[in-house]
Amino acid sequence: MHPLPDTHAHPAPTVAGIPASVLDSLHSQISILDRHGTIRYVNRAWRDCPHHGQPVQHPWVGSSYLEMCQLYARHHPQRRDSVRAQIRAVLEGRAQNFDFEYPCHHGQEKRWFMLRLAALHGYPGHFVASHQNTTLRKEQLLAGQQALHASAEHNQAILDNMLDGVITINLQGQMESFNKAASHIFGYSLAEVLGRNVSMLMPEPHRSHHDGYMQHFQRTREARIIGASRELEGLRRNGEVFPMSLSVSQIARAGQPSFIGIVRDITQSRQRDEEIRRLAFYDPLTGLPNRRLLMDRLKQAMRSATRSHQHAAVMFLDLDHFKQLNDTQGHDVGDVLLQQVAARLNACMREMDCVARLGGDEFVVLLEDLSPHAQEAATQAEAVANKVLYALGLPYSLHGQTYDSTPSIGIVVFTHDHTSLDDLLKKADVAMYQAKAAGRNTACFFDPAMQAAVLAHAELEKDLRRGLAQHEFVLHYQVQVNDQGRPCGAEALVRWHTPQRGMVSPAQFIPLAEETGMILPLGQWVLETACTQLLVWAASPATAHWTMAVNVSALQFAQADFVARVTTALQHTGANPHRLKLELTESMLLNNIEDVIVKMNEIKALGVCFSLDDFGTGYSSLSHLKRLPLDQLKIDQSFVRDVLTDPSDAVIARTIVALGHSLGLQVIAEGVETAAQHDFLAGIGCDAFQGYYFGRPVPAAALAAEH
Ligand code: C2E
Ligand code: MG
Ligand code: MG
Repeated sequence: MHPLPDTHAHPAPTVAGIPASVLDSLHSQISILDRHGTIRYVNRAWRDCPHHGQPVQHPWVGSSYLEMCQLYARHHPQRRDSVRAQIRAVLEGRAQNFDFEYPCHHGQEKRWFMLRLAALHGYPGHFVASHQNTTLRKEQLLAGQQALHASAEHNQAILDNMLDGVITINLQGQMESFNKAASHIFGYSLAEVLGRNVSMLMPEPHRSHHDGYMQHFQRTREARIIGASRELEGLRRNGEVFPMSLSVSQIARAGQPSFIGIVRDITQSRQRDEEIRRLAFYDPLTGLPNRRLLMDRLKQAMRSATRSHQHAAVMFLDLDHFKQLNDTQGHDVGDVLLQQVAARLNACMREMDCVARLGGDEFVVLLEDLSPHAQEAATQAEAVANKVLYALGLPYSLHGQTYDSTPSIGIVVFTHDHTSLDDLLKKADVAMYQAKAAGRNTACFFDPAMQAAVLAHAELEKDLRRGLAQHEFVLHYQVQVNDQGRPCGAEALVRWHTPQRGMVSPAQFIPLAEETGMILPLGQWVLETACTQLLVWAASPATAHWTMAVNVSALQFAQADFVARVTTALQHTGANPHRLKLELTESMLLNNIEDVIVKMNEIKALGVCFSLDDFGTGYSSLSHLKRLPLDQLKIDQSFVRDVLTDPSDAVIARTIVALGHSLGLQVIAEGVETAAQHDFLAGIGCDAFQGYYFGRPVPAAALAAEH
């Protein structure tokens, strides 16, 4: 190793193996120190520099580097001690090197230097201190930082002046920025949201959806909600939920993905849309849908009628003598009437029906989901029309004056076969004029056949009421025989004799009686009459053991007080309950099975027994059947009719017998017309029989004469 030269006394040709001329040619100021921090060599750049707080002629070699540094650090009093400590650390071998950038004032000028102190490799106890002028680089850096700062301020100013809320979030969903508009929209300040999860700005279910999206992204890096803006709900600080549009873009920040959400409060535009819709589709006077919306609904109704095969109806309605009111009392009064009519119409309808005002005093009602059967649909439409006639016929109060008004209604019932909307409305209009011609305050159907049927229906209903009041009903009895061929009872079958119609079949009037509720008084009459007949039989030894089967309709059985009614009938007449058998049908037992069971058991407790009529045509579930307190199954006559010719009917009959017996029930066959049918049914184990072969339904006296 070369000894370090005493550069001051005798300039040596090399310093630590480097030619001194090379060190002198460098721009950096270089000095070599010993372990005490004493300067042992300085290069030309050092010597020529008027700085380091010393005069140019300063004898550098032999002076203390540490003291010199103390002088530099005077501009940085807060760092002085640490600079000193770190230089010491290098000199004492505790640190490899020490870097320190410091400013240096030269007149008005401020320069920057980078100090590096490091051990001199290969010369233990010797150190090199270099001071390099970094003013240019430092100025560039500062300029860059200033530009960056200015640009950040500029960006923030843009963000703050945007009308849309801008929120950035990191991968965890935490908010990292929140502009003024976002504060305004959500009601939170920046400080309140920074670092918190953005889902706090959304109500459920959006909150959970958002958490789901973020978790999905964290797992898969697949962003589902990037791009097109979507509409969802936001949650303000005060708890208010509002509609907003959100578009999300993904960016990378410091190599990590993060998201920018742009939020717009669309409450007002929604309200505007709503208002535009209201003006476009609703009548301003009554608030009802206008012609345009009605047409739309009609189109939909036609489509859904096509799909469901159900009927729908259009009712065209106008107010009788409305023009007169308008002309004599003024439009204001007319308008009040129209508003009250609109309110009453709405009150008459189901939620799903559409009531529209076409203009003037013309209203249209659209009824959907009527029966698939044309006749039934017409009856349903007629019922609504009657309700409307009643409601609109009640007195009105117009500016304190009582006023009576009536409507005329035209009805068209339609299904998928109607194609044109205009045609439909025209027909309803024609029917409405028929209603006017028929004396107003009435409803007419466009279809003459339908009109006739509805009229006939109404007529029959009127007659039925009268028939009940005038005792036009009688009971006939059809004998039932046991497996020995001996009579063991009869079924009571109601008959209606009317002066005008003659004998009306129960198949015709029972459904109507059920529809109108008249089956209740009628059924009670049947029950009491049949019980009275039981008493007559009880008096004669030949018939004392006979049972009486009585048909019970669904509506009757469903009455809350049905048990009490049966009890009353028995008590009134004094009949033996053990001789009474009620015939139920499967459809009555489908719903509320628990209630049905309770009710049947209560009746059973009286001593009365049950037969299940028309068995095989319904949908009894075997598990239900098992739980019902039944005594008898009645094989429906449709199976009996073809039991000899149709093998599947024979199988059904056999199965019913086997099923009945396995449940411990008796099995009776109804509609037995021939000896062959009887033989077959007896052969498969039927316990009893009923049908024309044994006797038709006849009045009680005729039955007594026969047996
Ligand atoms: P159902 O209870 O099944 O009564 C049997 C029906 O079959 C009776 O018709 C009876 O006359 C008929 N019938 C009996 N034997 C034969 C036969 O050999 N061949 C043929 N082809 N038919 C036979 P009806 O009297 O016209 O009664 C019809 C339905 O009306 C009854 O069916 C029952 O469901 C209902 N009904 C009758 N009377 C009453 C009643 O008082 N109350 C209730 N709720 N319904 C009743
Ligand atoms: Mg029956
Ligand atoms: Mg039957």
